[in-house]
Amino acid sequence: MIRPLLVAANWKMHKSSADVSAYFDAFDRAAPAPRAGVEVAFFPPFPLLEAVVRATRGRRHASVGGQTCHWQAQGAFTGEVSAGMIADTGARRVLVGHSERRQLFGETDETCALKLRAALAAGLEPMLCVGETLEERERGSARAVVLRQLTRAADGLTREESARLTVAYEPVWAIGTGRTAEPGDAEEMHAAIREILATLSSPETAGATRILYGGSVKPDNAAVLLGQPDVDGALVGGASLDPHGFAAIVAAACG
Ligand code: PEP
Repeated sequence: MIRPLLVAANWKMHKSSADVSAYFDAFDRAAPAPRAGVEVAFFPPFPLLEAVVRATRGRRHASVGGQTCHWQAQGAFTGEVSAGMIADTGARRVLVGHSERRQLFGETDETCALKLRAALAAGLEPMLCVGETLEERERGSARAVVLRQLTRAADGLTREESARLTVAYEPVWAIGTGRTAEPGDAEEMHAAIREILATLSSPETAGATRILYGGSVKPDNAAVLLGQPDVDGALVGGASLDPHGFAAIVAAACG
């Protein structure tokens, strides 16, 4: 099964509208020409979604997404943004359950499941983020935690819904810390995730689902991580803020 690699930029709460065109000018100069087999995605803060959708329009290999969404379509939820509102900007994706949302904003497996379904109902392609904390890894429960997060969120999806799911394995201890998982450890977890996806959907769907690695991916460690057979791309936070650094990671994906 050939899965196109997906290299995704999570800008977190960074950048302003004035930065967008300069970012894409620099990225375009530095990145390799788009090619089959490698796609890019950008997850800017909500106020920049439309600008990034405009900046990437017409690029077949690029997509844009929100960083989270609410599970209701509308209502009295001050400060929240629905999946339909994200779709309305022309964005195609949304992150669900990023560890910063789980740790800092109280998101649970249950709310992630609701958000995942809301995203699918709005026609988006959700990227479900899963990953263990350092304490969970040291306790030997990393695999159990990741599989629980995955199962609670993705159980019961239809075949068509499962086909729109992307997973990002992001060990919490590796996010923004400069530490990355050993390539072999990442591969082991990705293979375990794919096995569970096969039981939740089907072996065919699981074989086609992209499982990205995230956690301090940088230009100098991207190639070895992306070289693992079950690592189908990278979700990049800090290093994606610099268009040259992000372009270098895309170049690593292009081989
Ligand atoms: C992330 O925010 O998803 C992430 C992986 O961040 P960083 O690359 O900075 O570790």
